[in-house]
Amino acid sequence: MAYASRVLAPNPGPFTLEGTNTWVVGGEPSLVIDPGPDDPGHLAEVVGTAGTIGAILLTHRHPDHASGAASLSRLSGAPVLAFRPETGERELPDAGTVQGAGIRLRALHAPGHTEDHLVFHDEAFGSMFTGDVVLGRGTSIVDPPEGDMATYVATLERLNALAPRVLYPGHGPVVWEAREKLDEYLEHRLLRERQVLEALRSGPGTPEELVPSIYAGYPAELYPAAARSVLAHLVKLEREGRVRRDPAGGTRFAAAQARTRSRTRPRTPARAHRSEPPSSAEGAGTT
Ligand SMILES: [Zn+2]
Repeated sequence: MAYASRVLAPNPGPFTLEGTNTWVVGGEPSLVIDPGPDDPGHLAEVVGTAGTIGAILLTHRHPDHASGAASLSRLSGAPVLAFRPETGERELPDAGTVQGAGIRLRALHAPGHTEDHLVFHDEAFGSMFTGDVVLGRGTSIVDPPEGDMATYVATLERLNALAPRVLYPGHGPVVWEAREKLDEYLEHRLLRERQVLEALRSGPGTPEELVPSIYAGYPAELYPAAARSVLAHLVKLEREGRVRRDPAGGTRFAAAQARTRSRTRPRTPARAHRSEPPSSAEGAGTT
């Protein structure tokens, strides 16, 4: 039997790719990771694939991963384990382990996408079940205040330090080059962070105002989601003291090193205070 069998939930969409991956791991009793939506056909297929289920594990509480948990528990008699358990569920803390037939998974608290996110690590096999922390394709969403970019980046670094070989994501295909994918994810976030700082060199801005230069070349219908991601970066940079909120407005941010704006207009435009050559700022977001 396969090490891990995927049962694809019938919930494809812009944020779920082909749908949610429900993973069935080990022999019987097996472990089921993310039951997916509360869809009778899907859950019947999960039971058919899993046979006797030892435990139902939740990576996080988003409905596309967790809303079928109670039904699957009723169908199978297996307990539901989560970082923040709801009524009738059991708590699975950071570093807690779960045993199935021929499989042992260790829970890793992996906040960032959500605060309650767990990644399940099979230390013997070198595999990780990553939920929405790492997807098989594209990037994960970090949407404040639920999403937190600083803890998300720390989570990616923590996972990378454990040197996994294979990633089994909550959406999209299995990732056989685990380290490369984690490096790519970290580089992508560092690139966006640099682009946000670059964009602020032209003056203060809200996430919505900064998006077109950072996401130049992307379709405009992605801009609202992109603005959430830019806000996540700005909140992280603010906490690090590298940007500050403009006193005039709640979501307007300025580079921390920029000269404080006085009520009287400066004699020269703010752009003229840049120490960098104009070409570097003008190049932001054009590639
Ligand atoms: Zn998801």
